[in-house]
Amino acid sequence: MLLDSFGRVATDLRVSLTDRCNLRCTYCMPPEGLDWLPKPELLTAEEIMRLVAIGVERLGITEVRYTGGEPLLRRELTEIVARTTGLRPRPQVSLTTNGIGLARLAGALAGAGLDRVNVSLDTLDKDVFVRLAHRDRLRDVLAGLSGAAEAGLLPVKVNTVLMRGINDHEAVALLEFCLERGYELRFIEQMPLDAQHGWTREGMVTADEILAVLSARFDLTPADPVERGSAPAELFLVDGGPARVGVIGSVTRPFCGACDRVRITADGQVRNCLFATEESDLRGAMRAGASDAELAERWKAAVRGKRAGHGIDDPSFLQPARPMSAIGG
Ligand code: SAM
Repeated sequence: MLLDSFGRVATDLRVSLTDRCNLRCTYCMPPEGLDWLPKPELLTAEEIMRLVAIGVERLGITEVRYTGGEPLLRRELTEIVARTTGLRPRPQVSLTTNGIGLARLAGALAGAGLDRVNVSLDTLDKDVFVRLAHRDRLRDVLAGLSGAAEAGLLPVKVNTVLMRGINDHEAVALLEFCLERGYELRFIEQMPLDAQHGWTREGMVTADEILAVLSARFDLTPADPVERGSAPAELFLVDGGPARVGVIGSVTRPFCGACDRVRITADGQVRNCLFATEESDLRGAMRAGASDAELAERWKAAVRGKRAGHGIDDPSFLQPARPMSAIGG
């Protein structure tokens, strides 16, 4: 088991397949992009599968989510998903993507056994999209969402980050859009994980604000809290249900006490928290000839040192050196 010193057990593994992305969302990276990891530093598909298999077969991982950067940019994605769903005990396998290219790939991914997809969509307005993501790709994202639904990757989940003065007027429109199509929407508070270090508390649209705006238009009732478990989203039935909306108050309503996540970056570092300032190098150990048992021990030690909380409110808080795109959101 991946047990930490506070008794939490990590069962949900997020694996970043690349730090590259075809968008430049303001809350993540600067318009000019970043220096991408050199290819020799990236885990190969074989190395990824070796670590994922160790996680599932030896360390109690039950859910594997592929992310990035943009995971659809990784050419071996379908093969990686198929090999992951072939592991025993079979983990749940999901993908977080910006949706660009998903229209073309959704069928193959569903065929490989992918269970779920989260598509990031922050706006329905072409001009706002360009302002926020610095690329004119809204049509591709919307096509990706439809493609996921047609391929049966249901319920399609949508992630939205609201930014003050940019897209915060769209909360109601985004929820209406998702309700009409049967997508499940989750609003995520913006976290201090952008490469530019431009996050400010005042700029963050809080869970309270989001709920106030939505409540003016919809009747929101808290969904069964038992169902939430370790999930970060507080879920609400919309107009009596069954449709739901989630709000992830990562900063103002932290859920660290129930956290069951662990991450592997695209260059093979274990991170026990999005906000960890230390990492444990599995790639180096693997390339130096470590056995599966040795890698599992290293991974366990990395999780044991997980802090109680992300500490964003502590005066001593330091934003991690890696931005979200290089951690794997
Ligand atoms: N490229 C994929 C995508 O767009 O979904 C996967 C990686 S992206 C880093 C994963 C999620 O993290 C996206 O939903 C994105 O909106 C969210 N995200 C990125 N930076 C964030 C930040 N600073 N605060 C909150 N969420 C963030």
